[in-house]
Amino acid sequence: MYYNNNTILFLDGKYVKAAEATMDLYSQSLHYGYSVFEGIRSYRTETGETKIFKPVEHFERLRISAESLNLPYPWHADELIKATYEVLAKNNFQNAYIRPVVYAPANMTFATNTVSHIVIEAWEMAPFLGDKLLRIVTSSFQRPNPKAFKIHAKAAGHYVNSILASQEAKAKGYDEALLLDMNDHIAEGPGANMFFEKNGVLYTPQAGNILAGITRATVLEICAAEGFTVIEGQFTMEDLRKADSAFYCGTAAEVIGWQSIDDTVFPLDWKDTKGAIIQQLYTHRVTEKQVVKKESLA
Ligand code: PMP
Repeated sequence: MYYNNNTILFLDGKYVKAAEATMDLYSQSLHYGYSVFEGIRSYRTETGETKIFKPVEHFERLRISAESLNLPYPWHADELIKATYEVLAKNNFQNAYIRPVVYAPANMTFATNTVSHIVIEAWEMAPFLGDKLLRIVTSSFQRPNPKAFKIHAKAAGHYVNSILASQEAKAKGYDEALLLDMNDHIAEGPGANMFFEKNGVLYTPQAGNILAGITRATVLEICAAEGFTVIEGQFTMEDLRKADSAFYCGTAAEVIGWQSIDDTVFPLDWKDTKGAIIQQLYTHRVTEKQVVKKESLA
């Protein structure tokens, strides 16, 4: 259940009941998958406040996604962040998943629109504890070709690819899929970016053929702060099969370790990986937990 009779959402400048909100069934977005969205999270911080994690980055990406697809985008990040906090407050949410969607009016042609609509929905989502490890399978589906799609945009239509890949992986008995790009380089998951570790060095697919996520950027910040070496590049399945460990990261997934790829179990115990350290430091960041480093205790 994403909403009940009391849930409030933000729709084109107004706060309305989710159960009473409507959209045009003749929308170009519904018919052609032509809309853009964000996936954002809020957390109850250590001091008890409600904080949206990296809201400016998310609403900036929403704007870039909309403009990449020629969807009119007349909003400012400030007003949308304010509206999102208002939605959280009206619903009494602290730990939540927030889903803004920019969508098109009724239009059965492929012509550009002069207006867009915006909705901001939220539902409660507890922080992930990260102890379960994923069994991953290589997908028979490739990620969309950047020459066919604006792959840096978080566009609804791209997610048909994600849905197919994820459904296929689950039908085969795995937890999630891993997709390659059109050159058979490792790309990403249906809704998350990946890192793998080999001999203490971290590797992650470079930007270009992936949605380079905000969590990925946060992981890179954590690695820089911790002095972990990260190499962004083009990697093959052969590289991954020889890895010591691997993990997915994304707003919804946070940081989640892998047990295996195509039934090859990673040799390093998750608790002994750089990923496990990053997982904990990510939780500290989103909940604004202040941690005194051991060295400075002396
Ligand atoms: N790749 C894809 C395809 C995704 O859908 C997501 C989730 N938005 C990510 C990566 C991770 O992005 P983020 O960390 O910004 O949530």
